[in-house]
Amino acid sequence: MGKTLDVTILGSGTSTGVPVIGCSCQVCKSTNPKNKRSRSSILIHHRPSDQVILVDTSPDMRMQLLRENVSRVDHILYTHTHADHLHGFDDLRALFFHMKRPIHCWAKPEDIVDIKTKFSYAFKKTNYTGAIPQVILHEITEQKFYLNSLEVECIKLPHGAMESLAFKIGKFAYATDFKSFSSKDKDMWKGRVSHMIASSATKKPHPSHSCLAETLSLFKELKVEKSFITHMSHDFNQDEEKELVPENVFLSFDGLSFSL
Ligand SMILES: [Zn+2]
Ligand SMILES: [Zn+2]
Repeated sequence: MGKTLDVTILGSGTSTGVPVIGCSCQVCKSTNPKNKRSRSSILIHHRPSDQVILVDTSPDMRMQLLRENVSRVDHILYTHTHADHLHGFDDLRALFFHMKRPIHCWAKPEDIVDIKTKFSYAFKKTNYTGAIPQVILHEITEQKFYLNSLEVECIKLPHGAMESLAFKIGKFAYATDFKSFSSKDKDMWKGRVSHMIASSATKKPHPSHSCLAETLSLFKELKVEKSFITHMSHDFNQDEEKELVPENVFLSFDGLSFSL
């Protein structure tokens, strides 16, 4: 079977990005370009339906889309509304200049409320369409929803005081900003995911994020063939990849892409 999905990691960093402002640790001072991490986001192209899907609008979205030459986004899936996953929202204005049509944004009902509160100006009437992001909001209320005919499965995961959505399209899954998968969640995706990107913010246990050991055991339990760690802090040095993760797991970096 031919490949159907192209996935690009737009950003692979935790909420502060790496380097961290003011930090002079080895990773923040590293000259390896793979240690420079913008805030977490990915871009998916579904070839058969020719749909471009952006997951989250990070504060670094403008530079990420410029870097990857993106001039069209059909859908945005929101994992949750923490600033590092949402606050690039205003820069969606520029996409409208090319596309001349609004972007469909998909989020949990509570996240829709949050987007409308944080970016209230975007939902008020204006005489000039270029002044505000042009979006159509859709609530995600079911475990499965459809981008035209493309099926997306989601799982709601605990993330501190809120919840984050993990998404699965075909055999590809993206899960960022979660503490853990329950055994019921794991059963749903076990053996059904060949490629997965999942977050690990830190090496040591963290109150609201899965740490490295936890994310690695998740990949194993889901029987994922090829996995990528994302949302990494300056704990992670790309130069130490071989020592940190097993053979079928990779530390992702900004601009990494693969197809399946
Ligand atoms: Zn985050
Ligand atoms: Zn978060």
